[in-house]
Amino acid sequence: MKKRPMVFTLFACFCFIVFAVLHFLNQKEIPVLGYHRINNVDHLPLTLSTEEFDAQMQYLQTNGYSAITLDELVSYIRDKKDLPYKSVVITFDDGYEDNYINAYPILEKYHLDATVFLISDYINRPKYLTWNEIYEMQKNHIHFEGHTFNHPHLDKLAAGPALKQQLSDSKTDLESHLGHKVKYLAYPYGDYNETVIAAAKSYGYKAAFTVHLGDDSAQDDLFTLNRVPIFQTYQHTFLHFWLNIHFPYIMNMLQKGFP
Ligand SMILES: [Zn+2]
Repeated sequence: MKKRPMVFTLFACFCFIVFAVLHFLNQKEIPVLGYHRINNVDHLPLTLSTEEFDAQMQYLQTNGYSAITLDELVSYIRDKKDLPYKSVVITFDDGYEDNYINAYPILEKYHLDATVFLISDYINRPKYLTWNEIYEMQKNHIHFEGHTFNHPHLDKLAAGPALKQQLSDSKTDLESHLGHKVKYLAYPYGDYNETVIAAAKSYGYKAAFTVHLGDDSAQDDLFTLNRVPIFQTYQHTFLHFWLNIHFPYIMNMLQKGFP
């Protein structure tokens, strides 16, 4: 008589696990990879060596990933448009010149699209992209979007002229050079609040990215989208990359966001 409740409990647990796994598999989660610098000179957490970047892009290509654009990601979230079975988004923050020198040839080699979030006042400065480099990349599947005027902590700014300069004036400046609307924003340091989100919407952005570690699914808020930040680690950098792509929520519990 005592065994029946135990069997029932085990059966209920089994059903719950099967349901949870099926539910999990049924949700298409898209990793939005977040890179900064790619070179063999700086040995900083936000700098990935050229060889490591090449290995990660090769992994994506040989494992059948499609590098989709932000337009495709947003259409999937907002309009429920379908995506390739294995989709990934590749992004770079700040617009460093090594993105052109080192990352761009690798992206071309593996036929992968990517998006660079530009700080409008930093373009043409030493170590940052020039407009001519941006024009060339733009012709070859590299997209450019906004990362403010000069990279402040947006949540520390009051609504009004300061936020307008960062979100609207920089957007207009980028658009005048790029020749297309700037629709997407990456919050510097991942910092935002309700005022920042309201301002970004009013200035015409369609979506914005944080540095929260996680994938993006059709249920996500377009103005607090997750990313998968890719760090240089002292060892096992590729393993961290692999774990972050496949198990972002578990990795999120083990590490905090990046600047
Ligand atoms: Zn940044």
